[in-house]
Amino acid sequence: MDELIEKAARIILESKLTIALTGAGISVESGIPDFRSKGGLWDRFDPEEYATIYAFTKTPEKVWLMLKEMEETVDNAKPNEAHIGLSELERLGLLQTVITQNIDNLHQEAGSRDVIEYHGNSRSLTCLRCNRKYDYKEKKGEYPPKCECGKILKPDVIFFGEAIPVKAMARSSQLASTCQALLIIGTSAVVSPFNILPRQAKQAGSKIIEINLEKTVLTGHITDIFLQGKASEQVSHVVSAVKELRDL
Ligand code: NAD
Ligand code: ZN
Repeated sequence: MDELIEKAARIILESKLTIALTGAGISVESGIPDFRSKGGLWDRFDPEEYATIYAFTKTPEKVWLMLKEMEETVDNAKPNEAHIGLSELERLGLLQTVITQNIDNLHQEAGSRDVIEYHGNSRSLTCLRCNRKYDYKEKKGEYPPKCECGKILKPDVIFFGEAIPVKAMARSSQLASTCQALLIIGTSAVVSPFNILPRQAKQAGSKIIEINLEKTVLTGHITDIFLQGKASEQVSHVVSAVKELRDL
């Protein structure tokens, strides 16, 4: 067994409260590009230009060109071994909650039950004029989808410049400040206020295990164990090691 993987597995086995923070990188192997992938969605739709609430309120029909493509990409995506591994850890009683920045529903599809969607989700739409809500299925195929009142609807994903849902933020903060182990997977950890959570955990004395293809702003500062590589492979290694050590 690899030494770092073994250390990570032991931390998880010894911890009384473990949580996972995930970002776009965990879904890249499912076919959803992150903000850095070359030639992907975000090369054509600059998030600075398309993913702000200012852009949405000003030119919603333009932003829906990006949302339509994002929706098609997400519809075709299936959970990968990293999502599945986290749901297995939850079933084993070794992971309390996944806090994700993603809006792709893949953690839930993989079987994770306790998922906090920090940046909202794309399963429902809201009218910014009359507050009416719609299930995304009701509006599927309609671009841009419109409210009964005529206004273009906004998916319930959090755009840059919008507030984080109050409940998601409060519960995440509470978990981060009480956990003993924190897995942070596939996030550049630059989007605020999500990036406060790993620091909060560290301050509270939690061990930090980071999985990423590349070093991030956390690596070498607050990360205790850095597992470099693809999320699917590293999570699978950790889950296998946990099971092996637990059964000894
Ligand atoms: P980011 O694009 O800033 O960073 C992604 C990170 O994942 C990078 O550090 C990259 O090195 C790493 N990565 C890429 N492929 C990986 C792999 N196979 N295994 C392990 N690591 C890998 O993403 P972010 O930090 O999540 O911030 C972007 C914001 O945009 C977030 O709100 C995010 O949820 C949202 N977003 C969501 C989706 C989605 O729902 N799937 C997709 C794109 C962006
Ligand atoms: Zn309306």
